[in-house]
Formats: sequence, C-alpha cells, structure tokens
Amino acid sequence: ANVLRSSSTTAPYNPPSPYSGVSFQPHPHSLPVDGFVGAVGNTPLIRINSLSDETGCEVLGKAEFMNPGGSVKDRAALGLVKWAENTGRIKPGGTIVEGTAGNTGIGLAHVCRAKGYKCVIYMPNTQSQEKIDLLRMLGAEVYPVPAVAFENPENYNHQARRHAERLDNAAWVNQFDNFEGNRAAHIHTTGPEIYAQTEHLPGGLTAFICATGTGGTLAGVTRALKDLSGGKIQCWLADPPGSVLESFINRGVMERGGGSITEGIGQGRVTDNLAQDIKLLDGALHIPDADTIRMIYHLLDKDGLYVGASTALNVVAAKQLAVKLGKGSRVVTILCDGAYRYQSRLFSKKWLESKNLYQELPEHLQKYAVL
Ligand code: PMP
Repeated sequence: ANVLRSSSTTAPYNPPSPYSGVSFQPHPHSLPVDGFVGAVGNTPLIRINSLSDETGCEVLGKAEFMNPGGSVKDRAALGLVKWAENTGRIKPGGTIVEGTAGNTGIGLAHVCRAKGYKCVIYMPNTQSQEKIDLLRMLGAEVYPVPAVAFENPENYNHQARRHAERLDNAAWVNQFDNFEGNRAAHIHTTGPEIYAQTEHLPGGLTAFICATGTGGTLAGVTRALKDLSGGKIQCWLADPPGSVLESFINRGVMERGGGSITEGIGQGRVTDNLAQDIKLLDGALHIPDADTIRMIYHLLDKDGLYVGASTALNVVAAKQLAVKLGKGSRVVTILCDGAYRYQSRLFSKKWLESKNLYQELPEHLQKYAVL
C-alpha cells in the first residue's frame, strides 16, 4: 500500500489512446491459416536497404527463412508429400522416405507430423549432430550412413529408395529428380508470389537470380516468371565453387573446380528439376566463398539480417546482377534460411581460419565471429 501511495505523487499515466480514429482492417496474410501446411509460403519480399542504396538499384530478397520450418525447402517438402498423395503412393498413416542432409528433411519431418505420416531420413554420416538431433526431435527416424558417391549402391539416396520399396504404403520422394513434386511447388507458389509482389511497382521486375541444389527453386521460379511476363523478366543462376552449372550455362562445358563452404547448393549434373527450364536461363554468375562470407557479416552488420551461406551467395549475385543491368533495375533473389543451423561454423573464428576465410573479413566485421 505504501508503494502505491508514494507512486500516486507522480503524474497519472494517462496517454492519449493510439487507437482513436484508427479502424483496423486485417491484412489478407494475417487471417488464420490452416495449420503448419497453411503457413508455408506467402513470404514477404525484403528490400535489402544497404545494397539498394549503394547501387541505386532495388535488391530484394524473398524471405523464405520465414516459412514455418525455417527454410525455402518447406515448399518443396509440401510439394513432394502432395505428389505422393495425389499419385496414390501413400494413404493415411503412410511413410515418407527421403535421402537428404538438410532442410528438405526438416521440412518433410514437419509436414509429416502435421499430416500424420511417418518420416524416414537417410543422410551421410558426415553431417552435424545438431541436424540428426533436430530431425529426431521432429519425430523422424534417422539413418546416418557412410558418405559414399552416388554411383555406390550404399549411397544415402539409394538406401532411402530401397527402404521405401521394403515397406507397404511408403514413398521415396526423390527431391532431385521429382519435378512433379519439387519444381511444381515453385511454379505454383514461389514464382507467382514474386510476380504479384513486383508487377505493380514502377518498372516491374527486371531479373531473378538464385543458386541451385536440387534445382527446384530456380527452375520453378524461372518457368513461372518467364510465362507470366511473356519472357521479359531475366532469370539467372548463381553458382558456388565446385558446381558445374555456371560453366555449363555460360560456355557449354561442365567444369568442376574446388570446393565451397556453402551447404545445400552446388550441383554436379543437370537434375530433372532443371532439365526442362535450364535453356530459359539468361546467364550464370560464379560467386567465390570469400564474397559469400563477407556478405553474411555485412547483412548482419548493416541490415540486421542473420542468414546462411546460400542466402549470402544469392545476395552477392543479386547485387552484381543489378549493377550489370543498370541503375534503377530491380532484382529479386531467395533468402533461403537463417544462420542458426550453421552458426557453429560460420561464426567461429577458428573454423573460418581453417578455411582461410577469416582474413577475408574486413576488420570492422571480425568482431561478429564470437564462437
Ligand atoms: N539453400 C539451402 C540452405 C538449401 O538447403 C537448399 C536446398 N538444397 C537450397 C538453397 C537450394 O534449393 P533447391 O534445392 O530448390 O535448388
């Protein structure tokens, strides 16, 4: 009581209502959605202010890290499960089986819990314990198996296929070559969303660019944007070291050189997701790891964005492409996921030093490498 009395000597807290005269209209995206599955997609397009201001262009990122499972692969996971349902491969209570080292498995595990399916994941045993733990926490049955080449029958993809063949009511969803599940998800959602989010802006969308793992995102978005714009919007690939696609698109030869710190992207072949649409691409950019790592730290420092390496590579490429296409151009890329799943590497001074990348960071950014 004493406390109350003494505080009553100060002026009463009686601010003007911030709500008077305001009528609230729910934004279409703020209406309730149908569970986890309903929350996939319809992500915002974020203007990367530091780079847009620096270049006099508009560099925009599709915020796929805001999907409910945390990455762009939620869309593919949902598309792959729908494919298994629609083709009659699984019925209620069935099992989804996949070989995946990362975000696709996480997306599948979420979608399977939401839809009442079992989820079985095969992955190379070189993957971090965090990823195995996360998949198990999401209810998946996880098999880490020796990391052997695709040609070897014990490769994780073949083991996943055989596991599904041994079970009744089970489907191996094959994200790399299943364009009816993976690429289709981006034709139907990611691509049209990007078009709708930019077509009304003055000058519309100049170009789209992103990196490729399975090729689902790039091929699906490219197909949709080319169709919807009558071919006017340029579509480009961004490629890390060690991938063969940049040299294939630009020079018609598959050259593989070096490795990369990026996870989830880079490809050694033209997957079935890419096969039909690779000819629609206008070009490709090769992005070295040093540029990618600098961009991870720059986006944190200047834009408050905490992104993984594939996202940073995409943003480097989007900025380069915007400059190439000229002042006032508008370029969209994909912000694939956050740095949370990789932070023990990307923000470790020791790890960066072991990759000869720490010294590539400008001094004012080195303070962020705190692990
Ligand atoms: N970034 C990350 C972090 C990923 O996990 C993936 C999926 N492999 C991609 C980018 C590439 O997407 P896509 O498989 O659609 O080519």
